[in-house]
Amino acid sequence: MLNNLLAKVIFTIALSIFAIASEAKEASILQSVKVTDNIFALVGPLDQRNAENAGDNATFGVILTPKGVILIDSGASKAGAQLIQDAIHKLTKQPVRWVINTGSQDHRWLGNASFAAKGAKIIALQSTVDAQKSNAAHEIQVLNSLLGETFAGTEAMSSPAPLSGDSAKLNLGGTELELLHLGNGHFPGDAVVWLPKQQIAFSGDLVFVDRLLGVLDNGSRVDQWAQTFKIFATRLKPKIIVPGHGRPCSLAQAQAETGDYLNWLVQEVKPAAENLEPIEVVVKRVHETAPLPIRKLHNFDTIDKVNINHAYLEFQ
Ligand SMILES: [Zn+2]
Repeated sequence: MLNNLLAKVIFTIALSIFAIASEAKEASILQSVKVTDNIFALVGPLDQRNAENAGDNATFGVILTPKGVILIDSGASKAGAQLIQDAIHKLTKQPVRWVINTGSQDHRWLGNASFAAKGAKIIALQSTVDAQKSNAAHEIQVLNSLLGETFAGTEAMSSPAPLSGDSAKLNLGGTELELLHLGNGHFPGDAVVWLPKQQIAFSGDLVFVDRLLGVLDNGSRVDQWAQTFKIFATRLKPKIIVPGHGRPCSLAQAQAETGDYLNWLVQEVKPAAENLEPIEVVVKRVHETAPLPIRKLHNFDTIDKVNINHAYLEFQ
């Protein structure tokens, strides 16, 4: 009898420890940050994609409306979409009605099929969808190797009815928003979601904070991204930015950690490449003289030299 009771007590304690542990694990992958009463950022880790984060090493946006949830970007895999869905469930019991894609990098859209299967409408500009389709095979190959089993069941699904042109005005559940392609960003076809009334921008991969951004060989150039950031900052002047990576931030922080870094890469690397200065000399010199606000960013040591190298090749 006593043994039985003791076993029950131990079992109950074990269960609660398990519950606390799994909640802590979940919380460490996507952290929910309140922006306003009905707007949240789901902030993923700043490190590389892996099986634990299911590729969701990025930030996602959530808008609660009386008619359901608007999700900005859907995660990098089926499992990544589930992490987002679980985080939303803690905020509301309402279903995700609309998924808006701001870009074509894996974590912006490879979770689309999971939300569409539950009835969500997938929304994106034509230029974003074009980039998704040309990137899909490469992204799937990379995620298969980084995520292994965790990537199973993922299906690359773009919006079946892309919106033409560079901008679209949408009204979803009484929330007015604009989907804007301001120019090439981290990828060609990148877009931002702008809430004109609240002056809040969901920037997608146009803005990275807290970690160093990555310059990729994907058809968008670093000087184009710098120019698009400038248009974003001067035309919209957002009060709050939900960035593509990192925590919600001010325009000043985005300027210091994305805009100024892109400008610095253009200013330092472009003349050196045009003057045919040896690439290894340029990489070393520019890396060693990086501005202080950039040096303190997560991933600086691993990514900055790669960025300088890519920028050099773009300017050659
Ligand atoms: Zn990204």
